[in-house]
Amino acid sequence: MKSASTIRPHDPLADALPWLQQPLAQALRHQRSHALLAVGQPGVGQLSFALALARAWLCEADGPRSAQPRREPACGRCASCLLVSARTHPDLLVIAPQAVQEALGWSGDEDDAGDAGEGKGKAKASNEIKVEAVRRVVAFAQQTSSRGGAKVVVLHPAEQMNAISANTLLKTLEEPAGTARFVLSSGAPDRLLPTIRSRCQAIALPTPGADAARAWLQGQGVADAGVLLAAAGGQPLSALELGEQGMDRKTWLALPQQMRAGSTQALAGWPVPRVIDMLQKLAVDALRAASGREAVYFPDAGLPQGGDLVRLSAWASELRAARRHAEHPLNANLQTEALVQRARAALQTA
Ligand SMILES: [Zn+2]
Repeated sequence: MKSASTIRPHDPLADALPWLQQPLAQALRHQRSHALLAVGQPGVGQLSFALALARAWLCEADGPRSAQPRREPACGRCASCLLVSARTHPDLLVIAPQAVQEALGWSGDEDDAGDAGEGKGKAKASNEIKVEAVRRVVAFAQQTSSRGGAKVVVLHPAEQMNAISANTLLKTLEEPAGTARFVLSSGAPDRLLPTIRSRCQAIALPTPGADAARAWLQGQGVADAGVLLAAAGGQPLSALELGEQGMDRKTWLALPQQMRAGSTQALAGWPVPRVIDMLQKLAVDALRAASGREAVYFPDAGLPQGGDLVRLSAWASELRAARRHAEHPLNANLQTEALVQRARAALQTA
């Protein structure tokens, strides 16, 4: 757990991600819609990208009332850029589920994403973007710009809008008032309403190559960059998050053996969705090992080759089903225990 303290968390408002600079320049140069949809894997930096785009659109390096949308990245020095950094720009509205805002440390000064009855110490931060939040978007887009330039809405991640939220947004996306522009981000665009997708110009965000991702992680102070990157399926921000949670090489690579032994010790304090996520990765690798292929998530962990393909496939299906119901387990310890015993049975070699 020690190593976590030296890791520098990523600040999506302050730190540029090197692999997103080229797509950002492209998006600024070729934008032809008032609404962009940034699509990429969840750990690739969608929010950073959306905020960088918003910041560029609001940047006043060419003067505050430039009629043309800016085609260059933000200058980082003008009054507008400083207001964005301070999270107080009057013409920028960032909408994210409460759980995301809390993870970013943004929950304090913002209204929540829509719970009318929200109070201090409320049990569970919501993962949804609720209709009240989208109504704020609608009202914001109708106001005139405070600084005379564009008004920008960042909505992340867009697939967390429920059906009512999405339908409420639709009309504003279709007929935006005045100078409003939108950046939606999504790791699962197939979960968006087709009508939302069709109103937006899509921008594909690349997953960086392993070398670039490792170099960036090392720069953030992650000691076991290669292993954590593999553990995160190649997605650097997810790997950083694992590091922040205190995960290291030794602990991660010991997990397959512990699951085979039915031990829950290393999983103390893990929320159930995180347990399931890890087990799903183990199931993928056990299936790969059983058919003579290399592990993806647990390299060098020595997964046995003699696994039973039928049994492992059945286990993988069970985990997919469990994942859909994992948000609010009645008893996390009991469920983790059951999941690990199931893993133990599935991972036995003949
Ligand atoms: Zn600027």
